[in-house]
Parts: sequence; C-alpha cells; structure tokens
Amino acid sequence: MMFAQTNDKVAAKAKKIHFSSLVMDTHIDVTPKLQGEWKFGERHTTGHIDQPRMKEGGLNGLFFSIFMPGTVTGPKAVNDAILRIAAVHKLAEDMPDQIMLCRTAADVREAHKKGKIAGLLGMEGGHMINNSLPVLRMYAELGVRYLTLTHSVNTDWADSSGDQPKSNGLSNFGKDVVRELNKLGIMVDISHVSDKTFWDALEVSKAPMIASHSSCRSISGHPRNMTDEMIKALAAKGGVIQINYLDSFIDPELYEWTQKTQAARRDLMQQFQNEPRETAMPKIREELVRQFGPAPKVSWERIVEHIDHAVKLVGVDHVGLGSDFDGGSMPVGMEDCTKLPQITEALLKKGYKEKDIRKILGLNTVRLLADVERIAGQMHSGK
Ligand SMILES: [Zn+2]
Repeated sequence: MMFAQTNDKVAAKAKKIHFSSLVMDTHIDVTPKLQGEWKFGERHTTGHIDQPRMKEGGLNGLFFSIFMPGTVTGPKAVNDAILRIAAVHKLAEDMPDQIMLCRTAADVREAHKKGKIAGLLGMEGGHMINNSLPVLRMYAELGVRYLTLTHSVNTDWADSSGDQPKSNGLSNFGKDVVRELNKLGIMVDISHVSDKTFWDALEVSKAPMIASHSSCRSISGHPRNMTDEMIKALAAKGGVIQINYLDSFIDPELYEWTQKTQAARRDLMQQFQNEPRETAMPKIREELVRQFGPAPKVSWERIVEHIDHAVKLVGVDHVGLGSDFDGGSMPVGMEDCTKLPQITEALLKKGYKEKDIRKILGLNTVRLLADVERIAGQMHSGK
C-alpha cells in the first residue's frame, strides 16, 4: 500500500514537471503528410503525431524533418526540398494560434511562453544542397536550422553510415560545407553519417554539433547509433545526442533479428515486387517469421536505458530527445507522442533531479541552438 502511494506521488510530480516543461523533439518525419490533404490539427488513429496528440503528450517543440531519399539528387532534390519547407511555412500560417515557426533559441522560448508549439526546420541530407553553398545559404534564409550531412547513402562530399566509403569521411568541399554551416548558424547534424565523417566534422566545426536522432551503440550495435567514444567527443565540444526511439535501433536482439533476416527480406521483396505493398508486406513478414521465428518485442523502457547510458557517460547537459516519430517502428508502449510523459516519470523514478529532467526534455536543445547562433555571430564580427 505504502509503495503504491509513493508511486502515485511520483506520477503526480512527473506530470507536473512534464507539462510545465519545454519538451523538444529534434527529428519528426510528419512533413510529407503536410503536403497532402492530411490535417495536422486533427486527431488521427494512425501515425505517431498530430497537434491534438502533441498537446496530450506535452510535446511542444519539434524539428519538422525535410527529408527525401539520398538517391533524389540534382535540381529535383532542391525543388522537392523547397516544396517540403513551404508546407511547414504554410502550416504555421494556417495555425497561427497553435504553431510558431522558430529560427532562434529566443523564438523557441517565446513560443513556449505563449503556449504555442515551437516548429523548426531540420534538413535530413546534404544531397539537397546540390553541391552548392549558395543553395545552402537560401535554405538558411528559409529557416533551416540543422543539416544532416548525409542521409542513408553518400553525398558527393560526405560518407554515410549506410553506404561504402567514398570520400574517406568528408571531402574538402564537405569541410567547406561544415564551415559554411557554422557561419550561417545552422547546426551540423551527424546522425546518419559514417564514423569517419563524424570525426572529420568534429575536427572542422567551430560550433558544437547535434546528433538529431541517434542512440547508443554500446547497447545496440546499429551503425546509426554512436559509440561511447563518439558520444564523449561530441559532448566534450558542447554537442548533444538526441536519443532515437526506433525499436530496431534501441534493442540489440531486434537489431540482430533484422540483420539475420535482411538477405531473405530482400529476396522476398524481389519475389513480391509486382504485388501492392499492403498485401505483400504481411506475406513477407509471415514468411520471415516461419523461417527465423518471431521478431523480438521491444519495450519503450529501452529508450530510457539509452538516455541513462548517455547521461552516465557525459552528464545531463548533452542528452536530449530525437524520436524519429513517423519515421519507422516504435517500441511497445511508445505507440505515439501521447506516451511521452512516461519518460519523465521513469527518469524521476531513477532519481533524476527536476532541473536535469528539464534539460533532457528540451533545454539542452535550446542551449545548443543559442551556442551555434553565438558562434555564427562571432564569425561575422571577425572575432
Ligand atoms: Zn533519419
């Protein structure tokens, strides 16, 4: 009985902290839906976020991901990126009382004070600059506040974790891109890049960097996650790792299962290529389960394990949230953004202090934005 009462008390305190905090998520893939008939302001039963569910989950700041496959290149990538950015601008215009398009740390604080969602733009993949610094400058004008150097394949100037090395990390032009990002006050995002690209970017960047949606490789070996050594080096230069929630990233057994089934899945996709995805996918899944056994189930609590691991490595100032909502499969118990308050509760139960929880929930991201802005300002004034 005593125990239950204590638990209730913790839950009530967690709720109070969570719903009075700025809760920022630095990677959400809802953006393509904004380009169609789908309404952000309505509650949906599919997908991971919309405005009513953000309210219910106490999520009040996000980076809308401007993403497209890295195989889309050239002028088409620029054209499509601009259309995607325009959809976010339009959303902020259509819902002025609910969403504020933010460009600076001060904007984010103002949005939170006014009870509005702070909406920012994060560009997921250097392919969208089409090898052009002037194009990058125009993205800065449109409000882009981080550039992930690569997506899942190499760009002409940076290697991706999902591809074979080509530039041995960053090429000379890739280093120019990092310097330009510093000058523009855009965060250098190292999620998705190869380890060598990470180390090259860390060396070149004058500003602290972000991993907008990556988890810890020492818990789960996915190459999209960061090694302890990388997390320490990122933090030592003031950067922040934003923990990714995707089940195949955070759980070692599921990661192993996806590795084991990869070749068979590829063959089956080939076999079913003429069938519509909706009917083909269940058949493929069924066949994989028959051959390899069911995929391990992953609990949302793994997310907290990754947060805690990173905090133990580098302290509470260098860890945040980057869910990848709408970008893949979520663990059990994190079906959508309404489930977020339980992260706060779990951290509180682990003994985290209120002020530290607020840092992880969003304040670290705002500090990072402010640091990157300040360094850009110094570069312009020639200091
Ligand atoms: Zn991604």
